[in-house]
Amino acid sequence: MKIIRKLVYYCDHCGKRYLSRAAINKHERGCTANPKRVCGVCGNTGPVQTEPFAQYLEPAPVSEDWQADVPGATRQVVEGRYDPFIAEVHDAVNGCPACMLAIIRQLRITRIAWDYKAARDAYWAEINAEHLRQEAACGYHF
Ligand SMILES: [Zn+2]
Ligand SMILES: [Zn+2]
Repeated sequence: MKIIRKLVYYCDHCGKRYLSRAAINKHERGCTANPKRVCGVCGNTGPVQTEPFAQYLEPAPVSEDWQADVPGATRQVVEGRYDPFIAEVHDAVNGCPACMLAIIRQLRITRIAWDYKAARDAYWAEINAEHLRQEAACGYHF
């Protein structure tokens, strides 16, 4: 019988598990639950500001369904204020979906109609389109 003891590393911010120090360091650095994160998508190194968004939020009703991996009371967007809230979060981080997720997570909003994957796909589609425009402007032809 062979027994292998392995160290397991847990993220300080969200509790996610990793088996190597390099992996946990990389994750913690960019973890969207980390208030001091460095964004791996847009490169933003400043902490995300969450205070300006309090006006759009109210405490979430307490229920077993409501679970957040960031400790503290959970919140939800006030009904009818979803669109201005998302627009303001979007503008605050120049549309970076990872930074938007960081704000939403750090505000401890547990239930929101916002779709991270759709936002991420739209963000990359926009960046790729921009690169193609720049290449076209530089005279590249395919
Ligand atoms: Zn984490
Ligand atoms: Zn970002």
